[in-house]
Amino acid sequence: MKVWFLGTGTSQGIPVIGCNDPVCLSEDPRDKRLRVSILIQWDDYSYVIDCGPDFRQQMLTSKSHKLDGILFTHEHADHTAGLDDIRPFFFRQGDIPIYAHKRVLTELEKRFDYIFEQENKYPGAPSVKEHEVKNNENFTLGNKTVIPVNIMHGNLQVFGYRIDDFAYLTDVKAVEAEEREKLKGLKVMVVSALREAEHPTHFNLDEALAFIEELKPEKAYLTHISHLMGFHAEVQNKLPENVFLAYDNLQITL
Ligand SMILES: [Zn+2]
Repeated sequence: MKVWFLGTGTSQGIPVIGCNDPVCLSEDPRDKRLRVSILIQWDDYSYVIDCGPDFRQQMLTSKSHKLDGILFTHEHADHTAGLDDIRPFFFRQGDIPIYAHKRVLTELEKRFDYIFEQENKYPGAPSVKEHEVKNNENFTLGNKTVIPVNIMHGNLQVFGYRIDDFAYLTDVKAVEAEEREKLKGLKVMVVSALREAEHPTHFNLDEALAFIEELKPEKAYLTHISHLMGFHAEVQNKLPENVFLAYDNLQITL
């Protein structure tokens, strides 16, 4: 299985528009972060987790020809706003499967009503095939089983996803004990860490590191990073040896 970090930034991306913070002005390509998403590929399958406003650019950079589906973590715009740009995939493949909590599907129907329109649909609009994700109900993608993991983003429920020994958790602030059980024995865990200072709805760096320390994946990658986290190179130097700051276009193989 190959995992490609398409975007590793928080909701505004880095650089933030009009921002003169040194991290936003950094020349290091690892300090430039699109909105969070990953591409997961194995055999002939290609899936993305989340589809934010940078989706088009991410699909161009990854030279993706085919998309077997989109798994949504939650409905916030930095994770969903790119849905219209599935059009090239839809024109070639037909309805694109999407996987999400019922609440998220309802939100997408509201925001992208023309995609879900049944009568008099504009011929250029894409279509999707909805799959409801329920906690404690594993589902299948291609020949693999996906385990949804319930996590909390402040008061908002978010799905993390485990596939084999890999798990992807973004926009995390709290994970209940029974959900942590689903995250034992991982080779790679991706978890969000916004910045050093505390935040009401996101793990900060210390909280993410404590979570990693408890669950003991072989390796952990941090994502959903704000410009307030600091320069990639400096922060990476301070991390434990099995923890890495992810960066855009980092690719790992499991
Ligand atoms: Zn987010």
